[in-house]
This record gives sequence, structure tokens and C-alpha cells, in this order.
Amino acid sequence: VVIVNTEKLSDRLQTVVDFIPDGYSIADIGSDHAYLPCYTVKKGITPFAIAGEVVEGPYQSALSQVREEQLTEKISVRKGNGLEVIHPGEVDCVTIAGMGGSLISNILEEGKEKLVNVKRLILQPNISAISIRQWLIQNEWELKDEEILEEDGKIYEVLVAERGLPEEPYKTDREKALLFGPYLMRRKDYVFSKKWLEEKKNWENILTKLSAASHTVEIIDKIKEIQKKVQMVEEVLGDEDSERI
Ligand code: SAM
Repeated sequence: VVIVNTEKLSDRLQTVVDFIPDGYSIADIGSDHAYLPCYTVKKGITPFAIAGEVVEGPYQSALSQVREEQLTEKISVRKGNGLEVIHPGEVDCVTIAGMGGSLISNILEEGKEKLVNVKRLILQPNISAISIRQWLIQNEWELKDEEILEEDGKIYEVLVAERGLPEEPYKTDREKALLFGPYLMRRKDYVFSKKWLEEKKNWENILTKLSAASHTVEIIDKIKEIQKKVQMVEEVLGDEDSERI
């Protein structure tokens, strides 16, 4: 089992790896079993990696994985919260995968000063990618690319950022680009349409419930906010896509 997991990654983690430039050292924060760094080091993509974990159980799993694969010289497993496990200048790239977008943004915010020499961030939020897009803009990181994929019935997004012009990707349709992702929204592939039609269905169910509730100011605001998002999905997808799925 051990060998299989670091010989072949899930499509989700492979998508993250595909964005790591050859030769970049990485810190994988929230690494769990350290599958990602074990894989990239074995494939010769990364010369050195840090696997960071804050929870004892996953930290121990990462340690034993790295030991079993005899990768202790190239992978340093460290226990700690977020970016506190890295020293400034130690890695070229930070990967954070498999968490919510607001947790990922908090980790980046709390450890900002550790990112001084980091050239690329590769972030895979399970939900709320918008929180990450907002954090990137506020912190002078430019979103360079995005990917969306479906695996085992779940849909994931991967965001890639480098230092640059943070507003560049949002020059047209800023509000929509923040929610849907500027690159994903333009590409509008099958998984993208599927994700947002599902979200739209959820929002419509919430709207039905809210309309039946007593209309306080808060509820009216909430209804307006959700209606706006439903409308944005309709505008981005258009009728054709809605019928295609
Ligand atoms: N990155 C792996 C992946 O994508 O398959 C594991 C994802 S797992 C769902 C999330 C991991 O992040 C858990 O092992 C958890 O302990 C760790 N984690 C959560 N918050 C963290 C933090 N602030 N610092 C470091 N690790 C954290």
C-alpha cells in the first residue's frame, strides 16, 4: 500500500505536482502522509522538500513514510502550525492542499514573513477558492493559472500564484472572476459547468427556504446576496451549458 501511494498520486495531488517547476524545492503544508513530497523527490522534480504537519497523528504518518522510503536526507518532516515550520529563503515553492480556502488563506496570512523568497504558491482548496483569490490580491501575488478537476465524485480547484501584478487577471468582470476564477471562467470546461450548476441548485434550495421564513432585514439581505450569485452563474454559463449537463 505504502509503495502504491507514493508511486502514483491521486489525480488531485498529481494536478498540484504538475504545477511544480523542475528543480524547485518545496514545503508541503498539511502534508498528512507526505505522499506529495515523497513522490516529487522520488521523481527527481524536487531536490529537497519539507513536509509540515500540525497534528501529531499525521505528523507521525509523514515521518514513517519518509523513513520507510529512505528519503530522510531529502525530506525534512516538521511538526508545527502552518508556515512556522519553514525558515525564510528555505524553499522556492509552497503547496497547501486538501483544506478549505479560508484555512489556507489563514495559514498564508499568519506566515507571510516566511514567503519572502518563495516564487510560487500552489493551493488546492476543497471549498471557497474565493478566499484565496482575495488573499492573493491583498498580498501582491498574481494568480497565474487555475485547474478544476473531478475525482471520486468531488470537484477540486487548484490555484497557482507568483509575485507580480495582483489585479492583472481581474481586469474584466472582476466580481465574477473572483468567485469563479478568471482562467476557469474563460475556459468553462465540463467540470466547471457541473460545479456551478450544483452550487446554483443548492442556492435555489436555500432561497426556497428563506422565502418561507419571516422577512427580517438580515434575511432579505441574504436572499438578495444569493439571488445575485444565482444570476452570476446564469450569466457565466449561459443556457447552452445548463442544458448540456
Ligand atoms: N495535503 C494532503 C492532501 O491534500 O491529501 C492532506 C490533506 S488533509 C485533509 C489536511 C491536513 O492538514 C491534515 O493532516 C491536518 O492535520 C493538516 N493541517 C490542518 N491545519 C494545519 C495547519 N495550520 N498547519 C499544518 N497542517 C495543518
